Amino acid sequence: MPSNRRVLLLPGDGIGPECVAQVTRVLDWMGAEGLAGFDIEEDLVGGAAIDAHGVPLADATLDKAMAADAVLLGAVGGPKWDGLPFEIKPERGLLKLRKEMELFANLRPALCFEALVSASTLKPEIVQGLDIMIVRELTGGIYFGEPRGIETLPDGSRRGVNTQTYTTGEIHRVARVAFELAAKRDRRVCSVEKANVMESGVLWREEVQKLHDANYADIALSHMYADNCAMQLVRDPKQFDVIVTDNLFGDLLSDAAAMLTGSLGMLPSASLGAADAEGNRKALYEPVHGSAPDIAGQDKANPLACLLSLAMMLRYSFDDARGADLVEGAVARVLDRGLRTADIMQDGMTQVSTGAMGNAVLEELGSRTR
Ligand code: NAD
Repeated sequence: MPSNRRVLLLPGDGIGPECVAQVTRVLDWMGAEGLAGFDIEEDLVGGAAIDAHGVPLADATLDKAMAADAVLLGAVGGPKWDGLPFEIKPERGLLKLRKEMELFANLRPALCFEALVSASTLKPEIVQGLDIMIVRELTGGIYFGEPRGIETLPDGSRRGVNTQTYTTGEIHRVARVAFELAAKRDRRVCSVEKANVMESGVLWREEVQKLHDANYADIALSHMYADNCAMQLVRDPKQFDVIVTDNLFGDLLSDAAAMLTGSLGMLPSASLGAADAEGNRKALYEPVHGSAPDIAGQDKANPLACLLSLAMMLRYSFDDARGADLVEGAVARVLDRGLRTADIMQDGMTQVSTGAMGNAVLEELGSRTR
């Protein structure tokens, strides 16, 4: 059995604990089957941490995250904590984790499961077989650049300022992640910016090209303006393999790509930091959805985004393609059997609870290894 992998689970708030509970069951199953050994710790984040410690991420929890090989987070937030000052809101716990772990690359796959083709708002032939990966720069660009603020001008009117900045190093490290992902996929990267109107876009394009020519000449690289990319994503999304882009454009394009696949409850993500000397990276895996307070505690949540986040953890943190394929395959077959949580329910299908969906995934896993 592969040596123990240190995993920190942070279930968080709302539907987070219900969904992460299904992940725990799969991790336990993998351990019992001898497929992988995990040292699993669990701790609080978000509103749950505020209730227990007065802060959304305790220092001791951050220490555990820094020591772990991978962190899996459920969701944070909810109405109970909405009135708190910005600095101690649940979401700050997540932002602090991303910042302290220096997670600069956000990976959002948009993969359309065969059984859910008709759940997309796009025509089946546009999304059938869709499998793209958006790599978004997460710690730089206009969301962090200085100067920023709102100032009052001499005539009494006001001016809001944000600054888009990128350095060579920031561009290269995220582009490297994209090229390395492409090398394990269809070997194509499309780099997206607005070099036609922004100097930071000119730099982005030049530096991605330079890095490519020096180190990744065997990967096909193309460049596209962000507005065109938005259009192409809904016109012909299957033309893409890996898209790499900055923080602002990535925020918008990854949400657009997400909806190609139908439901928030199906979307995993990964955020990666720099590789150390042994090639290991700090990494945080989480479903794209939030804490869904409207259905929390009712056994209605779709746990598949969380389980697919686990598959990403196996693939990217533990280089365990077999384990990842097992989990993804089990999810696909459960959907093929017609099982659906309420968010993806369709005519003629069988509606199931969170726990029943977890049971079905475990059954499918078991059937493949018996
Ligand atoms: P949300 O993603 O929580 O919910 C949006 C809608 O989608 C809701 O109707 C919800 O019921 C449904 N939904 C989401 N995930 C689902 C799942 N797995 N299964 C079934 N249905 C699902 O977004 P929101 O309502 O805008 O935010 C609710 C709270 O979550 C807020 O406090 C927000 O700040 C927080 N939030 C947290 C994260 C995070 O932890 N990464 C992300 C987004 C929002």
